[in-house]
Amino acid sequence: MEARCRILWYPFGTEFPTGKHSRAELTANPPPEKRSRVLAVVNQKGGVGKTTTAVNLAASIAASERSTLLVDLDPQANATSAFDLAPVEQQVYDALIGDTPMRDLARPTELPHLRVVPSGRDLYGAEVELVSALNRERQLERALADIREEYDYVLIDCPPSLGLLTLNALSAADGVIIPLQCEYYALEGLAGLMETVELIRREINPKLALDGIVLTMVDDRNNLSRQVSDEVRRHFGDAVMDTVIPRNVRLSEAPSHGKPILLYDAQSKGARSYLSLAAELIARRETPNDRVGSTPAEDLPAPSPAIGSAGEPDRSFAPIPSPPATGPQSFGGDDE
Ligand code: ATP
Ligand code: MG
Repeated sequence: MEARCRILWYPFGTEFPTGKHSRAELTANPPPEKRSRVLAVVNQKGGVGKTTTAVNLAASIAASERSTLLVDLDPQANATSAFDLAPVEQQVYDALIGDTPMRDLARPTELPHLRVVPSGRDLYGAEVELVSALNRERQLERALADIREEYDYVLIDCPPSLGLLTLNALSAADGVIIPLQCEYYALEGLAGLMETVELIRREINPKLALDGIVLTMVDDRNNLSRQVSDEVRRHFGDAVMDTVIPRNVRLSEAPSHGKPILLYDAQSKGARSYLSLAAELIARRETPNDRVGSTPAEDLPAPSPAIGSAGEPDRSFAPIPSPPATGPQSFGGDDE
């Protein structure tokens, strides 16, 4: 346990190594503006909907004809099996540790604009093996460098910890997507996650922004779900995506069929909500409008654990592609 804590938290120490170059050098010559946007889907809490969001958001972005790459950076390999790609001979571990180009690992899917880099159990070892590597926090960024410009969006599904794999994702990313399950303990740990994002932005990756908090498994009939949702919106304002993801049994069934929800049940509330989320994300990024867009991590307030009072969300539905929604998007509960 002690060794694991050291691995988890060491990179955030004051003696953070930057390899051959000083930190000043690394930040003095920022790379030219990139076409692609790399998004890390992060939350150190387990089971909050990271993989469901990464898989279905990636599929929905691809469905809107944006070339999309989903990188499974979780040794549990849930995103990999959600596309029926397991078991695999080569996986993201080989790009992080070895010489295998990421391009050789990207596998086609049933969606023409979506490729997936699979994961597997070997990745458990990477967290330990990378500890002694030079620039260990930048291995994913290095591995993605040659390939990222071939995609409009690169989504990274992170494991449920703030360990070295997640650190690699945050170092490689332009933005962070935080799925937040609307339950009593939702806000617990969010302050720590925000601090980590801010620390990475300050120390390693100045371009890192918060692209959106996504409320997941929302049940409108549940008071607590509404109260948590209101509280998060009060604290994080525009950083919270208008679209919310309802609790929907079709979303939980789709992975066992090896398909994203769009290919499993395109009419379900789950599919419609992820299409709407993709439309909102694309509009936020691609519409030149000052109100929308990503929020610099340092501009965000710390959340309070308090839970506020309820308010009725708007029930309208925005089809893809569409301009950014103006109010919370809800698709009801599980009663289809
Ligand atoms: P981990 O931290 O273990 O990686 P995670 O954050 O990736 O978990 P998921 O695997 O996406 O979370 O979701 C956890 C469980 O909840 C899964 O069984 C998934 O099918 C289910 N689930 C996720 N989102 C929804 C939803 N909107 N409605 C119903 N079930 C959902
Ligand atoms: Mg997961």
